[in-house]
Amino acid sequence: MLSRVALLLIPLLMLPAQARASMPECVAMQAGTPVTPGVEVQQVPSDDPQLQRLRVTARRGAFMHIYFDSRSEADARRHAVCLGTQLNLLANELLDARDGAQWAAVVFTADRNYVPPRGEAIKTRWVIRTDPQAVEWERPRPMVIRTLPHEQVHDFQSRNGAIAPLWFDEGHATWVGLRVTGMLDPEAARLDREERLAELRSAKGPVNLAGWGQRIVKREAILRQVSPDDRARMQADPDFVPKGGAYTFTMDDFETDESMAGARYAAALQLFEGLEQRHGADRVRRWVLDVTANPGEVTMDQLVASVRLHFGEDLKDLLKD
Ligand SMILES: [Zn+2]
Repeated sequence: MLSRVALLLIPLLMLPAQARASMPECVAMQAGTPVTPGVEVQQVPSDDPQLQRLRVTARRGAFMHIYFDSRSEADARRHAVCLGTQLNLLANELLDARDGAQWAAVVFTADRNYVPPRGEAIKTRWVIRTDPQAVEWERPRPMVIRTLPHEQVHDFQSRNGAIAPLWFDEGHATWVGLRVTGMLDPEAARLDREERLAELRSAKGPVNLAGWGQRIVKREAILRQVSPDDRARMQADPDFVPKGGAYTFTMDDFETDESMAGARYAAALQLFEGLEQRHGADRVRRWVLDVTANPGEVTMDQLVASVRLHFGEDLKDLLKD
């Protein structure tokens, strides 16, 4: 799931055009659509009367939709190929062997009050704000370079309906997301990683990674972010919550204590980086494929067994403070 918790705490240090070995389609992002092998951008009919739609197709038929309102067309087209390039990078990093996989969509909008539709039949749509008054981390470049590589990993993790503890999902998404951001813009990745590790260094009290199982969100935090129809349903039915979709939360929106969340992202990242250093990235990737292969909750017992099988290590040690 989404976590703005860490992002909210990140000082906005990212500077443009610092990258040396970056992907040109992700650095320049000039108006018009640059051409990149393995990525195709087409305008296709939209299923939303308020928005136009692009389809970005990557290798193996993988694709995502990019929605945009009339004021955001230039931003949408400028970032389309970079979003497609990251689908190819993600497929490599995740050993994704699916054909024709659909990844999460994005909506470029200048409407401050825009709320994306949600539902089981609707692919998650991440909102990218093109209003220059929008908070920095919701604007096109940070969203495309830093947030989407991370959030698309969550999309992949849930491809078969697996539900793993947060230390696993967030550690994996942060590890892969930073690797992909690092290919798009190395300096942005370096700053992101340093900011995350700084939170761990300044953590007061134990991180308790093993206790980072699931977040529980206050109902009002969901209510304020759903469509009028879903809101009416939620008010009529106390058990109803619209399934799927992207939400934005702050620390105050959780029932669970998320005060260590920033440090936990970093600790979970280090768990994955440690496995990579000791066993190589490919072994970590195969472990993740295994853990997320089947629907339903991934239990601690299953994780202990899979860590022993794949790495010959004791998960209890890996989760220690
Ligand atoms: Zn995440």
